Amino acid sequence: MNSVVRSVLLASCAVALAGAAHADSKPADVARQKAQIEAGLDKAYGHLDALYKDIHEHPELGFQETRTAAKLAAEMRALGFEVTEHVGGTGIVAIFKNGSGPLVMVRTEMDALPLEEKTGLPYASHAVQTYNGKPTPVDHACGHDIHMAAWVGAAQQLVALKGQWRGTLMFIGQPSEETVGGAKAMLKDGLFARFGKPDIGFAQHVGNGPAGTLSYKPGVNSSASNELVITFHGRGAHGSRPQVSIDPVMEAARFVVDVQTVISREKDPAAFGVVGVGSIQAGSAGNIIPDTAVLRGTIRTYDPDVRAHILEGVRRTANAVAAMSGAPAPEIDLRPGGEAVINDEAVTARTAPVFKAAFGPKAQVSPGPGSASEDYSEFIIAGVPSLFWGLGGYDPKVIADYAARHEPLPSNHSPQFAPAPEPAIRTGVEAMTLAVLNVMGK
Ligand SMILES: [Zn+2]
Ligand SMILES: [Zn+2]
Repeated sequence: MNSVVRSVLLASCAVALAGAAHADSKPADVARQKAQIEAGLDKAYGHLDALYKDIHEHPELGFQETRTAAKLAAEMRALGFEVTEHVGGTGIVAIFKNGSGPLVMVRTEMDALPLEEKTGLPYASHAVQTYNGKPTPVDHACGHDIHMAAWVGAAQQLVALKGQWRGTLMFIGQPSEETVGGAKAMLKDGLFARFGKPDIGFAQHVGNGPAGTLSYKPGVNSSASNELVITFHGRGAHGSRPQVSIDPVMEAARFVVDVQTVISREKDPAAFGVVGVGSIQAGSAGNIIPDTAVLRGTIRTYDPDVRAHILEGVRRTANAVAAMSGAPAPEIDLRPGGEAVINDEAVTARTAPVFKAAFGPKAQVSPGPGSASEDYSEFIIAGVPSLFWGLGGYDPKVIADYAARHEPLPSNHSPQFAPAPEPAIRTGVEAMTLAVLNVMGK
């Protein structure tokens, strides 16, 4: 917790310094800039649409994004950026210098997910890559392809409007967000030592809200995650002779049920916390009691004290169910995944009026943080005061159709996840370009 608090405090100071030299955009500037960006997008959108559909049809898993990275690098070089590839594996860094002023980072992720797309779209993915040693279908089901198209689009518009801002743009294409490893890999490869530490950073994520909308909030914006891998040990035996066994399936079953009391009975009901088991592997046949059961799951929290309490409860429950069976102690691995994204108060306060001026009621303060995790937090912890906002991705008519059928709308990570590209990408380009212009404007 301390390091996060410290980085947020440092972050606020940096923004104050960066902000001192530049006046923020007035509502009239925002309206004029938005009209310029819209006119630019009318010309550029065909290219962005083709880029989006090509990337969507050719998704790549984390740290395997070679085709995607090469494509983005070529786009940025064509715009006049100086591009360095292979930063943190498959990551790219694109720099555009335009006089003295702040260094501003704009981040997209490049990876897709190991799942089979079931949208039936004409540009649906049929890609297969190796995942955990097996050929596996791959799908941009988290919408990182929307972010990439908006990232290139914002770069295009900022170059076109370079007479209106000063400073250095650092556009980064990050590998492997879904494994929560890509941001760390770029930092470890000297991202800030080699290219400079940004004064401010921005990123955005599409979801299944109405396209054309965006949401933002200061402070905690996403959850912290821990992986859960627990191996229960027992003693294997014939299925007809349970008396000579120690049954790890029973231990696993008890654990899956009992661990939920950590959430329902030990945690403050008003505090956010999730423990879920998504995978149980044990045994090979109905008449054999196996000797191990392996559980894999995820733990999500916002508050560090709640997190510590839940981790302790998960450990205690796993040890207790093993002790109850007279089994050896289980192996318990609750390694940390992503940390919570904490939006900088000052950057949010600077950017929110621009979003309000540009998008009116379509820009809203989020009612609360999302339950997902995001490794953009690594850049914040490394000292970049940032704003990470959400973009609506769905055609409002599609949302209404699902509601009329009383069916849940497919969300990120669903094989049916299908944002409407044009309104999502256009809003992403406009929001990102305006946010950057506001902090770099002359
Ligand atoms: Zn995702
Ligand atoms: Zn994502």
